[in-house]
Order: sequence, then structure tokens, then C-alpha cells
Amino acid sequence: TPGVRPLIAGNWKMHGLRADALPLAREVAGGAAGLAAELLVCPPFTLVAAVAEALAGTAVAVGGQDCHAAARGAHTGDVAAPMLRDAGATYVILGHSERRQAYGEGGAGLRAKVEAAIAAGLTPILCVGESESQRLAGEAEAVVSAQLAEALPEGFAAAGGVVAYEPVWAIGTGRTPTEADIAAIHGAMRAQLVRDFPAGGPQGGGTTRLLYGGSVKPGNAAAILALPDVDGALVGGASLVAADFLAIARAA
Ligand code: PEP
Repeated sequence: TPGVRPLIAGNWKMHGLRADALPLAREVAGGAAGLAAELLVCPPFTLVAAVAEALAGTAVAVGGQDCHAAARGAHTGDVAAPMLRDAGATYVILGHSERRQAYGEGGAGLRAKVEAAIAAGLTPILCVGESESQRLAGEAEAVVSAQLAEALPEGFAAAGGVVAYEPVWAIGTGRTPTEADIAAIHGAMRAQLVRDFPAGGPQGGGTTRLLYGGSVKPGNAAAILALPDVDGALVGGASLVAADFLAIARAA
């Protein structure tokens, strides 16, 4: 999208001990200077503070992979958005399909998390995407549209919120939609964002960054990132190998 800096985000999922995660973060930072794209890594909660410290002063930002909808309280085992911010995160992934599946995330509860992230000064990355059976039934666009409608709060675009289209069947499988299918979903998402957030410039949905995620690799990144309304990538498996993650970033 013209005037929009691409974002290449790494979702480390439940991977990483200090012994391997800190060298990975440093290696990513070592290749990050001067890139057209903004770089982000999202380690597990235990590593957010250490990775943020290791990356302080570099061109790589740090994010969480989830947050609670409340800012504090009796929620054993959960992490609040202000805590992530305090640990050095500036982004948070929300509504990833693995969390939708494992914890039934979605709906108003997910929108509350997006609102909590924005209130804490974090940039939310809202994940949406259809299952394989929904894709085969021709429902992909409708599913994505409904997921956006239920989870996007007022002020999302003005806060710089990011959306990631991640077809569930493409995550960790080595399979990707066709370029035409990615472009079709991204075009539909753009139209919906412009409708919902009609302000011009950086306040509106016309410049909301729309990432693609699902088996992005160095070999397919350039073609995907060149598609209209694809403003970056959310990368899982390949983000755990610094050389691969940086190769994807250079393709943006
Ligand atoms: C993800 O889970 O966000 C993801 C895109 O995973 P992968 O790149 O491994 O398909």
C-alpha cells in the first residue's frame, strides 16, 4: 500500500529458552539495519523482557502473543497488556488461530483484548482466517469479514492496529493460497477497513497494515509481499531461523 511501511513479524510461538532465543534475537537485529520493512519478534512471555533488553536500541521491535482483556486483577496465569508494555513490548498478537482453537477465542472477548492492548499503548495485530472446510465451502471471504467485524473496536485504525490474514490450513503446513486468493481476501479486507474507518491518511483504514501469514518462506516471500494490499507478513516457523527471517524481510 503506497506510503505504508511493511511489517515483517515473527511469531515464535512456544519456542525459545534464553540460550537459543537471545542469540536468535541478536542475529535478527544484526541484519535489520537499513531495511525497508519494520521488523518485529514475538517471543513467549518468559522471554519478552530479556529479548526487549537485548534488542534495545536496534531496529527490531518486540511483541507478545496474547494479553488479557483486563489491566490487572485476579486472573491466575494471565498477562495484562500494561505488563507487556512494561516488559518492553510495543506490539501484541491477538486472536491467533491456535488460540481460537485451543481457548475458544473470538467475539466480544477478543475485541476486549484488542481494546486493552490499545489502551496500554500496544499495537494489536489481529489475526483472522478461514479453516480448510470453510475455504472449500466458498466461505473464506465471509468468515474473514465476520471475524473483522466482531473484533475491530472503534479507534483501531487510528491506533495503528494491524490485521494479519492467516488461513488456518496454511499455518505450519507448507501450503499457501494462490496469489489471486490472497489478493482477493486482502482486497476485501481493505474495502471493509475503509468502510469502517473512513478517515483519510494514517487515521483511516486505507493505510491499516494488512499482513499475510501462513507458510511464508524465503522462497515465496517476494511474490506474496508484492501483491496489492499485502503490507507485510506474519511468520511462524521461518522466524526461528534468523537467516530465513531476514531473507523474508529483505523481500519486502
Ligand atoms: C503463524 O502461526 O502465525 C504462522 C504464520 O506460522 P507458519 O509461518 O509456520 O505457517
